[in-house]
Amino acid sequence: MTKYIPVIGMEIHVELKTKSKMFCDSKNGLGLETEPNVNICPVCTGQPGTLPVANKKAIEFVQMAGLALNCEIARVSKFDRKNYFYPDIPKGYQISQYDQPLCEHGHVVLEIINNQETITKQIGITRIHMEEDTGKLVHPKGADHSLIDFNRAGVPLMELVTEPDIETGKEARLFCQKLQQIFRYLEISEADMEKGHMRCEVNISLHKEGEEKLSGTKAEIKNLNSFRVVEKAVDYEILRQTEILEKGEKVIQETMGWDEARGITVTQRKKESAHDYRYFPEPDIPPMRFMDEYVENLQRHLPELPDAKYKRFLEEYRLSKENAEVITGDKDLAEYFENVVSEAQEKIQSGEVKSDAEKVIKLAANYMVSELQKHLVKNYQTIKDVKITAENYAELIGILADGKINSSAAQVVLEEMYATGGDPSQIIETKNLAQTNDSGELERIVDEVLVKNQQSVEDFKAGKQSALQFLMGQTMAAAKGKANPGMVMEILRKKIN
Ligand SMILES: [Zn+2]
Repeated sequence: MTKYIPVIGMEIHVELKTKSKMFCDSKNGLGLETEPNVNICPVCTGQPGTLPVANKKAIEFVQMAGLALNCEIARVSKFDRKNYFYPDIPKGYQISQYDQPLCEHGHVVLEIINNQETITKQIGITRIHMEEDTGKLVHPKGADHSLIDFNRAGVPLMELVTEPDIETGKEARLFCQKLQQIFRYLEISEADMEKGHMRCEVNISLHKEGEEKLSGTKAEIKNLNSFRVVEKAVDYEILRQTEILEKGEKVIQETMGWDEARGITVTQRKKESAHDYRYFPEPDIPPMRFMDEYVENLQRHLPELPDAKYKRFLEEYRLSKENAEVITGDKDLAEYFENVVSEAQEKIQSGEVKSDAEKVIKLAANYMVSELQKHLVKNYQTIKDVKITAENYAELIGILADGKINSSAAQVVLEEMYATGGDPSQIIETKNLAQTNDSGELERIVDEVLVKNQQSVEDFKAGKQSALQFLMGQTMAAAKGKANPGMVMEILRKKIN
């Protein structure tokens, strides 16, 4: 059977979080406005006689993204008018960039894990340019008119176009996730897909094995508003086109959307002839020139990026790949982790914590990825909302590492700390959770348990291993979860034999 190979390219629009809009000093409300048309002025509503002034910060943000994505930064760049008429674009044109974008020829390297095996794949970035966002049309239900909200009109919008290097839904999703991570690290955008800060479009075509890469007809999928949907829509579209081609039919060039309820891509419109936007240089904004020193300075001031941080966390803290990935996946979580590590190191140096640094750091990471993450997910919160100070978190981990409380008690303490921001030592005292390492006390409890559970003792002696686990559970419960599990096991074995 003929094998069809998917060729996927993406176009990604990202709203930048500057203070003001792209070409005027109206506030960039980032869609958080509670009223329509509050952050507007004569410029962004396209009044006659107004002149645009380019937002320097927005241009800098795009260049930072370019540098982070290994692009060449143009030394000469300009704005162009993209002419088209639509009610959400009040000037009758959008200021964009045509033949001299700010950044070109970049790439991103993805790490893709397929059944235990990790492969790396490079996705080329053709260009990144700067433009302005449009207003929003609102269609009230049942009304015979539409309304327009210009709050978003003129918000700085970065457009990124990839090379057709992507081959699966998973790669498309990983690419978008990587971009979001990088933009958040750079603090140039929240890149939240659900909120429309980051919007992804996908172009997909299939070609026969051995044929030219771009010989197939492409369909475009728009309005993909989550990572999950990007992956599902791409995989679905690959299947749909494969079936068409296998039947000997032709793929139609069209724009599609994703129908979440049915889990399929649906036609939005058949592609008419290519738009002629009559691009021409924007006469109201002079071309831009960037000196080498300016670009070098931007490069020098880039923050540590996700890949570099991930590598450093593996080497410096000896974290597992999984833990390093989760922790460096969120810049704020990574920062919190590093604060915890430095607090823990102080406690070790001062002798407050007896365990060695490697053990404490590993435990801190494990608890962050499993326990803390669990509370974050449950409460729909991020690390920024967490009341637990790095110092208190380090204290809890130190107490746990030193065996002063056991793991189930630590989870109770963490839950209380999460809710109240309280001090771990105080919580342990109030809740009386300190681990019982007193062997006399534990022996007394074990004796009681053995008397009450003679049958299990017999079962164990007869070779039933699970009976020992049962007795262990009974003892831990009798000790109200405070017993040192290692000691309990030892006493149990000794007494039974
Ligand atoms: Zn304005």
